[in-house]
Amino acid sequence: MRIIILAAPGAGKGTQAEKLSQHYGIPTISTGSILRRNIQEGTELGKLAKQYIDGGNLIPDDVMIDVMKDRLAQPDCEHGFILDGFPRTLTQAEALSASDIVIDAVLNIDVADEKIIHRLGGRVECSKCGSTYHKEYNKPKRDGICDRCGGALVTRADDKPETIQSRLDIYHQTTEPLLAYYKEKGMLRTAQGQEEVADTTAEVLRVLGD
Ligand code: ATP
Ligand code: MG
Repeated sequence: MRIIILAAPGAGKGTQAEKLSQHYGIPTISTGSILRRNIQEGTELGKLAKQYIDGGNLIPDDVMIDVMKDRLAQPDCEHGFILDGFPRTLTQAEALSASDIVIDAVLNIDVADEKIIHRLGGRVECSKCGSTYHKEYNKPKRDGICDRCGGALVTRADDKPETIQSRLDIYHQTTEPLLAYYKEKGMLRTAQGQEEVADTTAEVLRVLGD
């Protein structure tokens, strides 16, 4: 199974990607995690990525396409993958279409902007393992501490209110047109985002025909 998850920032892509990854037994390839790991490790890619990410802007297409070509060629992707965060532009989508990778379905998780602003505003992330929590909807057992690894929970630099709005604007301008692109190809499945993570997962599996 090769699935692309296409949804606005904060629509729950990452969370649902993890659920699908467990369900199908295939890895999630998350561009955000790859980039943030490179930033932490201070690699050349990380240095370049940081200036774009912190401002809520996209990394240049040629860089992103190279990173993903390498990643999807790794042996763990052989039996399928869930793509979280790629493609995000028409140029990236066309590069993927032109490759020999055959995508089975493109999943859209539909969530209204107002909800997204509220969700991202309350999101915190583990500085060590990257697990995400929400100050209202998905609280850690102990305030400010990761349930999974005990790491400190922090607000991502790109989850500041001004940056959230610019990420949403970029999504509408640059990524949303991909919905029409994949719809035309007959690949698009749309799930309505629900209040509860588990309800969204049920809806996602339903639209994927599972
Ligand atoms: P969410 O946490 O809901 O997934 P998001 O999708 O905005 O929110 P990430 O996927 O973690 O966040 O991506 C973080 C940042 O990494 C983006 O704002 C962008 O700067 C950069 N990025 C990630 N994927 C791509 C891509 N395919 N092309 C260009 N830049 C990207
Ligand atoms: Mg993401």
